[in-house]
Amino acid sequence: MNVLVINCGSSSLKYQLIDMRDERVIAKGLCERIGIEGSRIKHTAADKDAVIINGYMPDHKAAIKFVIDALVSPETGVIKSVDEITAVGHRVVHGGENFSSSTIIDATVMNAIRDCIDLAPLHNPANIVGIEACQALMPGTPQVAVFDTAFHQTMPEKAYLYAVPYEYYRKYKLRKYGFHGTSHKYVSLRTAEFLGKKVEDLKLVICHLGNGASVCAIDGGKSIDTTMGLTPLEGLAMGTRSGDLDPAIVQFIADKEHLTLKQVIEVLNKQSGVLGVSEISSDFRDLEDACDAGNERAMVTMDLFAYRVAKYVGAYAAAMNGIDAVVFTAGLGENSGVVREDVCKYLNFLGVKVDKDKNKCRGIEQDFSAEWAHCKSLVIPTNEELMIARDTKDLVDNL
Ligand code: AMP
Repeated sequence: MNVLVINCGSSSLKYQLIDMRDERVIAKGLCERIGIEGSRIKHTAADKDAVIINGYMPDHKAAIKFVIDALVSPETGVIKSVDEITAVGHRVVHGGENFSSSTIIDATVMNAIRDCIDLAPLHNPANIVGIEACQALMPGTPQVAVFDTAFHQTMPEKAYLYAVPYEYYRKYKLRKYGFHGTSHKYVSLRTAEFLGKKVEDLKLVICHLGNGASVCAIDGGKSIDTTMGLTPLEGLAMGTRSGDLDPAIVQFIADKEHLTLKQVIEVLNKQSGVLGVSEISSDFRDLEDACDAGNERAMVTMDLFAYRVAKYVGAYAAAMNGIDAVVFTAGLGENSGVVREDVCKYLNFLGVKVDKDKNKCRGIEQDFSAEWAHCKSLVIPTNEELMIARDTKDLVDNL
């Protein structure tokens, strides 16, 4: 069984074709500049070099047509015909309260995804376009939606309600939803396997630290709290996002800078976080270089970032009355020993203690706890595409 995993952004589309017999990625790629001049695909078939395919892609349907052609073509392909794609799994960012797990897409599901556009105006429309394009090009092939929010639907009311008039929840479903759920789920399951334990017996804090970043408290395999909120702006300081702040700051900036509220939210999404504070970069590789060169603001920014991650780990240790492991994943969490050590230095009181040599790892599964640590510290690389493919396979197997 081959599952095609699709992740649509507003002008990009990432894909992987996974052979579910051995969960091997047989082809993957990225379409860029969809709807803009210069659209192209970077396509990589297993065991071959990447190729760039330039082409006119006015919309996502055209892009998916290019992807299918690349997958079946004699030169770049890995399958003989589109019939060898058994099912398509779509990453969908927001499922609201309607979905606590992945689901086969039908007309009712499509309407429910449309109903969530208000909650994710940048993401859900692109996801819908991707699904409609695949339905048109692969009629009869089952399509599955895997939601970023679904894993967090187990959060209790005390975690997901904001302390604002309850009628806003009643009227608008205003609440914390959380994101990166597919990643947090995959990493928690993989952590349990790595430790040789059942996920039901573990209290985990997963730190998904990438350009977007979130921490999740997982008790017995269930998300009980997470740092992102109604939107992905809440929680940690991120590459360009502010994360938590005093809500009165929004009006304050609007008044001082003569901006509309919409413009202020744009500043908080695109010009804040580590980019805003450091005035250097949103990329931690640049910040680490600046620290090495003695740049003091870069050092403060790195510490601000790690301090905020550590505060949430502490908060979630309180929420779960202890933790068995703190787990790092995503671009930064998997690659930056400096950031991992910076976070862990605040967590000695929880029994976290780092083995500096083991913490030099990059992008591999690693227990980097010192021998006598009471709480494990781990790196577990995430794999959202594989999680989407597994959910898709499970649903399609039961059709
Ligand atoms: P992601 O969003 O998961 O792809 O993560 C991207 C971010 O991870 C980048 O913006 C960098 O800040 C960070 N990152 C990736 N590789 C490294 C590395 N080798 N060292 C430090 N940070 C890294």
